[in-house]
Amino acid sequence: MQRSGLNTLCVHAAHAPDTAVGAIAEPIYLSTTFERDAAGAYPRGYRYGREGTPNRAAVESCLAALEGGIGAVAFASGLAANMAVLDLLGKGERLVAQREAYYGSLKQFGEVARHRGAQLQLVDFRDLSAVEAAVAGGARLLWIETPTNPLLNITDLKRAAEIGHGAGALVVCDNTFATPVCQHPFRFGVDLVVHSGSKYLGGHSDVLSGAVVVREDATLLERLQSWQRMAGAPLAPFDCWLLRRSIATLALRVRAQCQGALRVAEFLAGHAAVERVFYPGLPAHPGHALAATQMPGGFGAMLSVCIAGGADAALRTASRTHLFTRATSLGGVESLIEHRASIEGPGTRTPENLLRLSIGIEEPEDLVEDLAQALG
Ligand SMILES: *Cc1c(COP(=O)(O)O)cnc(C)c1O
Repeated sequence: MQRSGLNTLCVHAAHAPDTAVGAIAEPIYLSTTFERDAAGAYPRGYRYGREGTPNRAAVESCLAALEGGIGAVAFASGLAANMAVLDLLGKGERLVAQREAYYGSLKQFGEVARHRGAQLQLVDFRDLSAVEAAVAGGARLLWIETPTNPLLNITDLKRAAEIGHGAGALVVCDNTFATPVCQHPFRFGVDLVVHSGSKYLGGHSDVLSGAVVVREDATLLERLQSWQRMAGAPLAPFDCWLLRRSIATLALRVRAQCQGALRVAEFLAGHAAVERVFYPGLPAHPGHALAATQMPGGFGAMLSVCIAGGADAALRTASRTHLFTRATSLGGVESLIEHRASIEGPGTRTPENLLRLSIGIEEPEDLVEDLAQALG
């Protein structure tokens, strides 16, 4: 696999037995305020909960270590993390993003651009000449998502980052789907990584969270930290604790989930009731060769499938599964299945007969059996 020591980092980054009583599990510090010394200073580094807490410091250092950046800033959701970055966009400046990005991010981009009088340009990032045309004349932010949601399109991170930098843009990559287990955007020149920690990092569908990780620009890190304090939107101590605890098993989970996803994708690709499978781990996927180079840790555990017979057939399939639960979201230990067009609503570009699958850590053969009976 790609990075020797990843499991070690997941367990040990910013984590050591507590010095007060020797607790192996990190204590949860709920305190909103911290004691001054006799001289009125704060020698232990903490003053007030909005500004920083021990649990937040731990999860932020851990995320920075996993992505290979200088620091991270944790938020109450992935969209709050996006918002901190979008605050960099000034009036008249341009944000270039992927037409196929996560629909929640797209909605957010549209609103932010409208309110700020900024320009939003959406293009298909598989076509890098379209990206070049979109940034011509300069851009403030180039926002990449790879693989995309839900079509699993792959963007060439290195070349897209070069194009963005050539136009003077900060290059952002949403690494929620790939996680630092599969892909390290900073190795390709990306400046900022954003995460929805509600997905794989949390991994158990029980902690809404987000983060921005900064590759090397200390001034940018300070600006994002300042936004976190000003907006008063940091991740709360218990949620930081849950997230840090979950990251201990991140690589174990994601590697198992990737293996399960490949098995399920291969099964679906050979099934008569399936029109098309979207999974970058399949050699037939148009982004397969690129994914193999920039996702050395695995092809991820998300896949989509178009069911023969249209929306009705897709909904019928989703209604018959036992192990796959019908729900939105992804990245948890339990497998989920979702008719994507219904959650995205009118105007979606997602095919009506598409089901999106988030593969959990169940035995792959059990998942295959469940889908086989559901497809009938
Ligand atoms: C879920 C998701 C988000 C938004 O994160 P929340 O934690 O739900 O706010 C952003 N990007 C991607 C790719 C996602 O899957």
